[in-house]
Amino acid sequence: MIMERQDLMEKVTALAKRRGFVYPSSELYGGLGGLYDYGPYGVALRRNIRGLWWRHVVDLRDDVVGLEATILAPEAVWVASGHTVNFTDPLVECRGECKQRFRADHLEDTERCPVCGGPLSEPRRFNMMFKTHVGPVEDTASVAYLRPETAQGMFVNFKNVLNSMRVRVPFGIAQQGRSFRNEITHGNFIFRLREFEQMEMEFFVQPGEDERWHAFWIEERLRWYTDVLGIRAERLRLREHEADERAHYAKASTDIEYLFPFGWGELEGVANRTDFDLRTHQEHSGQDLTYQDPETNERYLPYVVEPAVGVDRIMITCLLDAYDEEEVKGETRVLLRLHRDVAPVQVAVMPLSKKEELIGPARGVQRALQTGFRVEYDQTGGNIGRRYRRQDEIGTPFCVTVDFDTLEDRAVTIRERDSMEQERVPVAGLLDRLRERFA
Ligand code: ATP
Repeated sequence: MIMERQDLMEKVTALAKRRGFVYPSSELYGGLGGLYDYGPYGVALRRNIRGLWWRHVVDLRDDVVGLEATILAPEAVWVASGHTVNFTDPLVECRGECKQRFRADHLEDTERCPVCGGPLSEPRRFNMMFKTHVGPVEDTASVAYLRPETAQGMFVNFKNVLNSMRVRVPFGIAQQGRSFRNEITHGNFIFRLREFEQMEMEFFVQPGEDERWHAFWIEERLRWYTDVLGIRAERLRLREHEADERAHYAKASTDIEYLFPFGWGELEGVANRTDFDLRTHQEHSGQDLTYQDPETNERYLPYVVEPAVGVDRIMITCLLDAYDEEEVKGETRVLLRLHRDVAPVQVAVMPLSKKEELIGPARGVQRALQTGFRVEYDQTGGNIGRRYRRQDEIGTPFCVTVDFDTLEDRAVTIRERDSMEQERVPVAGLLDRLRERFA
């Protein structure tokens, strides 16, 4: 790498905008902090991340089922879950010149403002949930909140899933969807957002089995990053939470951390939530949420192990981990070395020129490859070299070029992103050859 790590975030942010991954939200009107929109390649990347998570957490297992709950939920849910009281961060304000606000637990010096050096206020607890009203009357009965985590949807539907599906403890309920947190400070691009997307799985186990399953899911999730997403193992580590940093519901929590340009940061949290949530919902709703073991007839409230992660945070991790620059013939080549399953485009098909006789065969190649891959047809955007560079920047593993020789020899050129090596392959064997190279 020929760049400093501190430049990396700026470079990735710029590339993400330039190449249609991420745009600041409502930019036309000056934007709003902590909100981003996703452009065409960003959407594709996110769909792949979600799909790979779903495949490995739900589809490849027979003990996890899916759920989609609403984003809005009445106040009663959040009172029961403890969020109206406990979902707070310590807020301090600068009493000096700049008047900025900070999260006290993110500051090394809690006396002096890190921006202007002025004195800081005493910390006060700031609740991060977005509050709203449902229905035409804004009275206390209509109060609802945008969920700050998807997890509660799984707990309030625990009995529904139990009664409608043939599930037996141990089993999990998984969900992907938007969550909202009015973060005191947002930043580091899409690392900390106010609207983001979570992927969470609540795995219900017999009390006493919880520590074993906690260890299992920590390992399982860590392996997903290295083996499925291709994230560099040396930039990942596990960190156990200290007692004073654990969430109000957790008995133990381990973060999977990534070495971001600003230091180690949480990528995913794997928590042992005990029976906290089911117990509190049982108490507040007055409904029995116990599980009866069909063999022993024993009744109990299951414990819960929860891997929880944000799509946006995985996305920034993939982009940072994949970003690379190298010198090629006196010029800097920028590329994303994205894993082939994550890359927005897997194969770009290009006619060498816009000449009519090349377009027909190139479109034919495109159609043939679409049966097996995410394909983009790229005819515009200058000479072939420039088009290769553009595909490098969005992380496309292979380009296939149709040239004038193709008309004679019925063969095309495969060009690989990382090595830039080229291989001539008959059109008839192209799909199989690419399948081999993707394997
Ligand atoms: P922090 O203490 O950093 O505010 P947290 O420990 O409260 O975060 P969790 O509640 O464990 O975060 O959230 C689970 C996962 O959801 C995180 O690991 C992260 O991937 C994602 N996440 C949480 N908050 C945000 C956010 N504001 N923006 C983007 N992703 C987030």
